[in-house]
Amino acid sequence: MCFYNDYDWQAEVHSENDVEAAKPQGCYECGAAISQGTIARHIIQRQYQDCRCASCMDQFIGGFFVDNCPNAEFGESFECWICADCCKILKAIEVLEEKEGCPAAVRQPSYGGLYEEAFAQDEFEANKYAKAAVEMFPELASHRFVSYGLNTVTED
Ligand SMILES: [Zn+2]
Ligand SMILES: [Zn+2]
Repeated sequence: MCFYNDYDWQAEVHSENDVEAAKPQGCYECGAAISQGTIARHIIQRQYQDCRCASCMDQFIGGFFVDNCPNAEFGESFECWICADCCKILKAIEVLEEKEGCPAAVRQPSYGGLYEEAFAQDEFEANKYAKAAVEMFPELASHRFVSYGLNTVTED
């Protein structure tokens, strides 16, 4: 099942890095605590690469924008942290979706939508993702989403 979502805005700036959390965070997917110094995925998005304020737009001659403008009109922005276990689930989903022929852009649920989009909507999908996750990362069996998915379908 590919993940087709309508987003309110497109991010021109998108960074996604697995880094140590400088201060405690909560996982945007499962709510788990990410303690200081733990490796987790930090996602930062900004709608516009360049400042859209009137003065910067005036200076836009042949592609010049001021990046550190005090007006800083970069449109919408978004930031979140995702714990290492949820990143593993996302990886397993990505690999599975690729095998099933989903285009690259729709192999992942939206940020914050891991449970809702991959597990809560269809129990057979949930079961499939959970199985794929434990096959790749057996330690995920106790993750809340995965254990839910493993128990949605009972084989007899
Ligand atoms: Zn998580
Ligand atoms: Zn500006």
